[in-house]
Amino acid sequence: MKILKVDHIGIAVSSIEEVKKLYSDILGLTHLGSETVAEQKVTTAFFPVGDTEVELLESTSPDGPIGKYIEAKGQGVQHIAFRVDNIENALEELKAKGIRLIDEKPRKGAGGAKIAFLHPKSTFGVLVELSER
Ligand code: ZN
Repeated sequence: MKILKVDHIGIAVSSIEEVKKLYSDILGLTHLGSETVAEQKVTTAFFPVGDTEVELLESTSPDGPIGKYIEAKGQGVQHIAFRVDNIENALEELKAKGIRLIDEKPRKGAGGAKIAFLHPKSTFGVLVELSER
């Protein structure tokens, strides 16, 4: 497997509308657009930063993964996403190396990317997302 770059950093927020003011008005980043991923009960908003992006994540429902995350840990950095050249190969290789996978197979993420998460128990507490697009 080959990691090409940090694709994005995922930040859990209660309200994209509110937090967006920080990233666009105060920090001066461009809001590239928002997208709701219904299966994940999440709305995402992307802000490019150089070769990577900040991804704000707002839950569309209290029982979604981001809703539960904020309930337990509060707002803040939620995951880091690495872009890989071939996500199926990466998952196979990591599994063979004993890494626990949340997603055995890639699923559809925002922007038409193929994504999969690794279990934080295998990655010293960091929720790692793999992304291929
Ligand atoms: Zn992400």
